[in-house]
Amino acid sequence: MTTFKTLDDLGDITGKVVLVRVDLNLPMQEGRASDVTRVEAAKPTILELADKGAKVLLLAHFGRPKGQRYSTMSTSMVQGDVERVIDREIMFIPELSGPVVEQSIGILRNGDIGLLDNVRFWPGEEANDPDFAKAIAANADIYVNDAFSAAHRAHATTEGLAHILPAYAGRSMEAELKALDAALGNPQPPVAAVVGGAKVSSKLAVLENLVGRVQHLIIGGGMANTFLAARGVDVGKSLCEHELTDVANRIMDQADHAGCTVHLPYDVTVAKEFAANPPSVRTCNVHEVAADEMILDIGPQAVEALGDVLKTCRTLVWNGPLGAFELEPFDSATVALARTAAALTQDGSLTSVAGGGDTVAALNHAGVAGDFSYISTAGGAFLEWMEGKELPGVAALAR
Ligand code: ADP
Ligand code: MG
Repeated sequence: MTTFKTLDDLGDITGKVVLVRVDLNLPMQEGRASDVTRVEAAKPTILELADKGAKVLLLAHFGRPKGQRYSTMSTSMVQGDVERVIDREIMFIPELSGPVVEQSIGILRNGDIGLLDNVRFWPGEEANDPDFAKAIAANADIYVNDAFSAAHRAHATTEGLAHILPAYAGRSMEAELKALDAALGNPQPPVAAVVGGAKVSSKLAVLENLVGRVQHLIIGGGMANTFLAARGVDVGKSLCEHELTDVANRIMDQADHAGCTVHLPYDVTVAKEFAANPPSVRTCNVHEVAADEMILDIGPQAVEALGDVLKTCRTLVWNGPLGAFELEPFDSATVALARTAAALTQDGSLTSVAGGGDTVAALNHAGVAGDFSYISTAGGAFLEWMEGKELPGVAALAR
């Protein structure tokens, strides 16, 4: 694993000014955060630094202001939510650098926490302008990055600052990197990957990276239809990218060469309409899908066989639901396989890591998110890591 410094490597930080990049891009409803998972993730790092006597300055983006100030996108919008979750008062500082920040630091006592304004109000953030980063760094002693979810961006506060100040991974970043390393970087074999979701086109790079790294590639969701079509199966009205069947065949060839077994379903759950519990729902062999039917989930026999595959594996990485899980009964395969994976994890025989917006929703729906070894809520960064890409924010920490 790439090595990086953690909070364990900090010496005495009493009175030091620590810039902490966190993810406070919270979903809002009626002026309040509707989900504070991201604040909870950052809480241990913020409190640890504050309790060690540092003056903690939080850096975050909020929305997409594209280099301009909008009062509705100020990080002050989430100040109350952050205070509630970390159970401390924080001082809002409506700048990132300059005299206002300098004066605020003078007012903060050791152990106090400040919240700087939306880093994306300034064009230098997304441009990764070194002078912009230097101006922010001028008031600080240490940089801590605790926002893995923003690490796929080479921006001033996700990457640039790490080149200017002594840089450390926060606790949440550290946990994410360790989990991801255990899942794909340096995993215990055999490794299984579940890749599902709507389309092959959105996960092409993921599939191509995985075939060279895992022993079992389990394909479900809408993208399984494209692979089935490539194998000559008539998928009826299913979501299917017919123009990508060559690509699907190429991925299956690559898998063959790499000794990776590709698992496609041999039974499926189909319906004539995309709705919850439609009267037309039935389960059939993949070769029996009628011209007016859609495959909306993989079938029970396939799920059982996949459960048996997981029992032979030591490591699982999962991205994408196996079916249209938002509608019953097309959540069945995802729920069943997720429960098998969760049980194997709890037994200690499997290390399981999952990520992706809909995947996390599906695992929560199955009631097993807490039983996986690690659940990444990082979205884009998780996917880029699944693609085997180096994330600039992580690479900068690893120097
Ligand atoms: P994630 O957000 O975890 O990366 P995706 O966004 O790639 O996952 O995919 C999730 C979507 O895929 C869900 O909205 C789900 O309904 C859809 N999906 C899964 N299987 C099918 C299918 N057989 N037909 C149509 N849509 C499907
Ligand atoms: Mg999604």
